Amino acid sequence: MCPTRSEHPAAPPLPLDGAARRLLDALPLRAALMDRTRRVVYANRALTGFAGLPRRGYRGWTEQQLVGDALWRQSRHLAAAALAGRPARWEGRVPSRRHGPRHVVRHYVPARARGGRILGYWIFVLDVTDRVETERRADATERLRAAIVDGALDCVIAIDEEGLVREWNPAAEATFGIARASMIGKPLGDVIVPERHRQAHASGFARYLAGGAPRILGRRVEIEALRANGEEFPCELAVSEVRLASGRIFVASLRDLTSVRAAEAELARQRASLVQAERMSAMGSLLAGVAHELNNPLSIVIGQAAMLAEATEGSPHAARAAKVQDAADRCARIVRTFLAMARQKPPRREPVSAEAIARAAIELLAYGLRSDGIEVTLDADPATPSLSADQDQLHQVLANLLTNAQAALRGRDGPRRIAVTVCPEGADVRIAVSDNGPGVAAAIAERVFEPFFTTKPVGQGTGIGLAVCRSIAIAHGGGIALESPPEGGARFVLRLPGSPLAVAEPEAQPQPARLRGRVLVVDDEPGIAEVVCDILRTDGWETAVAHDGNAAIATLAAERFDAVLSDVRMPGQDGIAVFHWIAAHRPGLAGRVVLMSGDVMGSAPLALPEAARLVEKPFEPAELRRVMASLT
Ligand code: ADP
Repeated sequence: MCPTRSEHPAAPPLPLDGAARRLLDALPLRAALMDRTRRVVYANRALTGFAGLPRRGYRGWTEQQLVGDALWRQSRHLAAAALAGRPARWEGRVPSRRHGPRHVVRHYVPARARGGRILGYWIFVLDVTDRVETERRADATERLRAAIVDGALDCVIAIDEEGLVREWNPAAEATFGIARASMIGKPLGDVIVPERHRQAHASGFARYLAGGAPRILGRRVEIEALRANGEEFPCELAVSEVRLASGRIFVASLRDLTSVRAAEAELARQRASLVQAERMSAMGSLLAGVAHELNNPLSIVIGQAAMLAEATEGSPHAARAAKVQDAADRCARIVRTFLAMARQKPPRREPVSAEAIARAAIELLAYGLRSDGIEVTLDADPATPSLSADQDQLHQVLANLLTNAQAALRGRDGPRRIAVTVCPEGADVRIAVSDNGPGVAAAIAERVFEPFFTTKPVGQGTGIGLAVCRSIAIAHGGGIALESPPEGGARFVLRLPGSPLAVAEPEAQPQPARLRGRVLVVDDEPGIAEVVCDILRTDGWETAVAHDGNAAIATLAAERFDAVLSDVRMPGQDGIAVFHWIAAHRPGLAGRVVLMSGDVMGSAPLALPEAARLVEKPFEPAELRRVMASLT
C-alpha cells in the first residue's frame, strides 16, 4: 500500500535541482536520494520504471517500502555507513518480483549540503545481470572447451596469424615432449616442423595469409613432425580456421602415426612371413615327397652295395665296394632324416644320445656347409648323459641352428667356422652351436626367438626356425639361449635335462636267422624283391616272389611258407590286405609277417596291423636280418 503524503513529515531540503534530476532521469542507472530518516526524496526514471512505481507517488516512502523487506534488511548497514559519511558498496543477487532474480551492484553514497553536513544518502543501483550471465555462460563454455581439448587423445594445437602457439593440449605435451607453458607464444614452425621443411611451411603460411588458396585447410594430410628429442615421426593433420574479431586462429588436430605405421609394418611382415612359411612348408612336403620317391631305388642301392661288399670281401674290389656301401648308407640316413622331419607324429620320449643327434644333423647339412667353405667341428664329452627325447625333433633343432649359422657366415670373408659342443652341465646336457659370423646385435637379441622375427629379406627368412627350436626345447623340459661370446659370433645353447636311462647300444650284427625255410617276398618293385631275396638267401632262406597282393594271396593259398615279407603299398590288394588274408586263412603264419613300409607321405595314414613287424624303407641289410632273426 502506498502511504499518503499526509502521513509523513516533509523531507528536508536536499541538494537536488531540476538540472540534476533531468540528468539522473536520463541515466540507465537506478538512483534514489534518501533523507536522514531513510525516506525517499527522489527516485529516477530508471528506478521507478524498474519498480513499476508512479513517477511521484513514492515520495516519503521509507527505503524498506521502496526496496522490500529482504533487501532492506540486507542493506541497512550500507545506509548506516553512508549516513556516517562512508560510501558503501554491495554486490549480489537480489530477488525481484517483476523481473526475477537480478545481479546488482549497490552504491550508498552520503548526500551532503554545501557545507558538508550529511543530509541523507544516494542509492545507485547498477544492474549487471546480463553481464554476469554472459560471463557465466562464457565460463561454462570455456570449461567445456578445456575439458574437450585437454581430454583429447590427439594433439590440439592452435596458432594465430603470426604463427604463434595459442593452444597446446596435454596430448601435444606428451607427443612432442614439450610443456604447454614453454610453447604458448612460441612460433610453432620453429619447434615442430623439421628443419628441411621450415622454409616451405613458412612460405605456404604466408602465401595463404596473403590470400592464396588453402592447401591443407579442411583436408587430412600426412606430414613429418619433430619431437623435442630430435626424433621425426609421421603424423596425420587436419587444420581448420576460426575467424575472431582479433584475427584468424588456425586449429590443428594432429595424430601421431608412429604406432599405426609400426603395426602396419608388423602386419605386412607377418603376412609376408606367413606366405613364406606356407611356401616353406610346401617345399618341405616336396622335399619329403622326393625323399619318399628315393626310398625304393635307395633300398636297392643299399642292399646291392651290402651284397657287393660281402661278395668282394678279401678281394682287390673290397675297398671300392665298401666306399659304395658307405655312400649308400649315408644317402639312406639323409633320406630318413628328411622323412623324420616331414612326419607329423606325436613326440616320443626315448633314450637318445645328444652327440649322435648333433652328428646326424651335421651330416645332413654337410654338403651345403662344405660348399660354403664352412669348417664344422663336433666336440662331445663322453661323460654327457643321454637324453629322454624325441630324436626327430631334436634333430630338427640342431639342423635349424646349423642352417642359421651357415646363413650368418655366408657374408663373411676369411675362415668360416661352426663349432658344436656337447657336454654335461650338472644333471643337464648342454649342446652349443657357435659360429664366427657377425653375431646378433644386442638390440634384437631378445627378439630372435619370437615367431616370425627375422632380419632376412623377404623370401629368405621366415622367422619361425628359432621359435620352433624354443618350443621343442621347452617341451623337453629344457630351454635355449643366445649367448654373445667375447670373441664374437653367435652361440646358441640348448640345455636339456639328462636321462638316467642309457642309450641302447646298436645291436651286434645278428647271426643268420635261426628260423629258416620258405619266405614269400611280395613287392611290386622287382629290384627290391630281387635284392631282398639275395640278402635272405645268403642267410639260408629259400625265397619265392610275388609282384602284387593278388599274386601273393594266390601263392599263399597254393603253397606252404614259413615267413612272408611284403611291401605295404601295392596296386590292387596291398600288404595290409595280404596280412589280413593270412590272419584269416593261415593264422599260424600271421606272427611271421614282416611289412616293408616306405610310406610316410601317403594321404591316408597307414593302419598297420599290430601283430605285423615293420621295416622302414630305405633299410640296410643288417636291419632286415635283425627283423628276420626275431621271427620264431
Ligand atoms: P629366420 O632364419 O627365418 O630369419 P629364425 O627364427 O631362425 O628365422 O632366426 C631369426 C633371426 O635370428 C634371424 O633372422 C637372424 O637375424 C637371427 N639369427 C639366428 N641365428 C643367427 C646366427 N647364428 N648369427 C646371427 N644372427 C642369427
